[in-house]
Amino acid sequence: MHQFIPYGKQSITQQDIDGVVAVLQSDFITQGPALGAFETALASYTKSHHAVAVSSATAALHLACLALDVKPGDEVWTVPNTFVASANCARYCGAKIDFIDIDIETGRLSVEALSEKLKAAIKLPKVIIPVHFAGASCDMEEIAKLASQYGFKVIEDASHSIGGRYLDAPVGNCQFSDVCIFSFHPVKIITTGEGGALTTNDASLAKRLTQLRSHGITRDSEQFKETPHGPWYYEQHMLGFNYRLTDIQAALGLSQLKRLDEFVRTRHSLVDHYLEVLRPLSTIQPLQVSGNVYSSHHLFVVQVPSNLRAHLYNALRAANIGANVHYIPVHIQPDYQTLGFRAGDFPNSERYYSQAITLPLHPGMTPEDIVYIGSCLATALNEV
Ligand SMILES: *Cc1c(COP(=O)(O)O)cnc(C)c1O
Repeated sequence: MHQFIPYGKQSITQQDIDGVVAVLQSDFITQGPALGAFETALASYTKSHHAVAVSSATAALHLACLALDVKPGDEVWTVPNTFVASANCARYCGAKIDFIDIDIETGRLSVEALSEKLKAAIKLPKVIIPVHFAGASCDMEEIAKLASQYGFKVIEDASHSIGGRYLDAPVGNCQFSDVCIFSFHPVKIITTGEGGALTTNDASLAKRLTQLRSHGITRDSEQFKETPHGPWYYEQHMLGFNYRLTDIQAALGLSQLKRLDEFVRTRHSLVDHYLEVLRPLSTIQPLQVSGNVYSSHHLFVVQVPSNLRAHLYNALRAANIGANVHYIPVHIQPDYQTLGFRAGDFPNSERYYSQAITLPLHPGMTPEDIVYIGSCLATALNEV
């Protein structure tokens, strides 16, 4: 039996381990110099003005909504084809969540559906959260045009797409958004164990995010509203959280960031192998990536006839191949049905889902793994 091939997996080298050990042997294992170094490196890599590292992308989404003043009575829109966290963040703030359907060919927000929904809206959204599905940036220039026309803010959910590019510029540069968030969960492109970050070009937003990350507290005397009681003094200015990233994690992130471009190059070459191997199997259609996008290839998703999806998935699993499915549309989750959403509400997302399989893709894979996966798929197709 072939060794199990997971759909995603971290790559950790001795260099990564050395970075973490150095922090463990230092005076600060949280809130020390590694955090600032990681944030500076992130801002520089993404060509954004500010980066704020936090404990997860879920925390980043929550803070982004709070910093953009999302509150009860507001609406936030995202896509159904995402992880639940992209929608839950609005609900943490007491806002109403709604969805925009996707383009089946790319799995991403349909700008046309967004435009139609805005035209028909009784209440306009305060924030829209496009998701750079599978590593490919959404059409941010078009979304930004609608944002200025209708006056909403934009949070890019770039959990999948650090290392990706849009119009030849790094994802996260926030040219077409207010803030961009990343995930450093082990299945994503780079990892800190658990972790996430926000980038923005807005200095006051960055300041709010930094404060919200740590209880809403400031120790900066220039920001004090009252006379300090002494050198120990700090002030709470808003209701914040403990969403900090440790220095242990930041050291891993800093080391991983140095390997990011190599990770993405490896992913591209593995995807090229997939396209080659799958070409003869015309029933299996890889997702399309638009010409103005350089994907980070977080996921390799294919579309198959929906009546064959379970058969192919089971055949892959039986062959020790960690196939997966991204995503069950958020609006049909039982908890979302309690909010009034129903199957049938977003037909493209539902049809896309019924045909979707994620094949393994991570930098530890070899071209031989892909040949093996291709032959399993061919065998399974011959059985039907
Ligand atoms: C992984 C993921 C998240 C959540 O990331 P965490 O770091 O695990 O909180 C949010 N959105 C999308 C699209 C994701 O894939």
